[in-house]
Amino acid sequence: MDLSVILTYRCNSRCSMCHVWQHPTLPDDEIDLATLAKLPGGFDYLDLTGGEPTLRDDLEEIVELLHPKTRQLAITTNGLQGDKLERIVRNHPDLNVRISLEGIGARNDAIRGETDGFERKRETVRRLLAAGGRNLDFAVVVQDDNADQLLDLHKMSVSCGSGLDLASLHNGFQFHKIDNEFTNRVRAARALQPLVDGWLRSRRPRDGFRAWSASGLARKILGQPRRTPCPAGRDFLFVDPWSRVYACNVRPDLEIGDLSEQTWKDILRGPRAAEARTRVARCTHNCCFDAHARAARRAHRFQTGGWILVHALRAIGGRPVEFDRAVDFRNVAQSSIVPRRESWLGKPFHPAIQRKTEQPYGAYNNGMNK
Ligand code: SF4
Ligand code: SF4
Repeated sequence: MDLSVILTYRCNSRCSMCHVWQHPTLPDDEIDLATLAKLPGGFDYLDLTGGEPTLRDDLEEIVELLHPKTRQLAITTNGLQGDKLERIVRNHPDLNVRISLEGIGARNDAIRGETDGFERKRETVRRLLAAGGRNLDFAVVVQDDNADQLLDLHKMSVSCGSGLDLASLHNGFQFHKIDNEFTNRVRAARALQPLVDGWLRSRRPRDGFRAWSASGLARKILGQPRRTPCPAGRDFLFVDPWSRVYACNVRPDLEIGDLSEQTWKDILRGPRAAEARTRVARCTHNCCFDAHARAARRAHRFQTGGWILVHALRAIGGRPVEFDRAVDFRNVAQSSIVPRRESWLGKPFHPAIQRKTEQPYGAYNNGMNK
């Protein structure tokens, strides 16, 4: 099973597609070491995320606590605090550090509201590699504003010796907004084609899997159904900064328990978890995240492996990758018409503290995301 632990909703980026930074948690309210210690061992992949996890003063202790409980521990970070990450990677070179990056140079900084963010991330990668890090990835949210730079981001990741993890622009209750919509779905999905092509021609097994995952992402962007059932609630779970456990981080109605009050076993075996799994089976959001792809690789290894084998053999044999056979570009959903997302770079704002209440996440904890 995969688990994402959202350690905080504090964030020092100001992304246009996620307004978590406008609604920070208080450090004293955030999930503590004693609660995290209740997590069992044996996870396949455990991601420490946020908000920005490096803003937690106890991040190094959290890593020491959770590293033995999972086959692969990851930190998803904006990469702006390289010194903290460097200390952790020195002790754990196998740590998967996923640095969020939305474009080259000023494009990243505008989308993510980060002053000199692009250069600071590159410096962080240099430091982590020098510290012995051997499992670094850039994590990109594919959107209209960076579709034309995906290939450049891919080349940059290769030159840095890191991987490239892709997700699609989407909505979720924790973002405090619901206007993350594509204006040109076909253009964004088409932008994935050269990446899929390159990954299929690569000899690295992980790249074949990235190609499979990116072709699924193109389907999600176009608004098409998933290839494999959503594993939320069965093969991946989320814990929020107030210790609440959710089947996924998109629908607020999939909350299944509270780790500060219950045991992990009771949460997983409880009636709310069973009800959430029923709702997941009927869900039409068709999300496509890394966690979905990893879970699909575990649960549907013949389906994913067969796709990779067929397409990679064609590509390595010098035949063109038939992207249009893998993805149906005639079937395109309509996007809602929304205002263009604005850049928050350098703009003033007044954060509104979020507390653990019966109804967290404000107006976005309602039917809009169900
Ligand atoms: S996407 Fe991540 S880095 Fe950006 S504001 Fe949200 S939590 Fe912060
Ligand atoms: S497809 Fe539905 S249940 Fe699955 S992650 Fe997306 S919103 Fe959650």
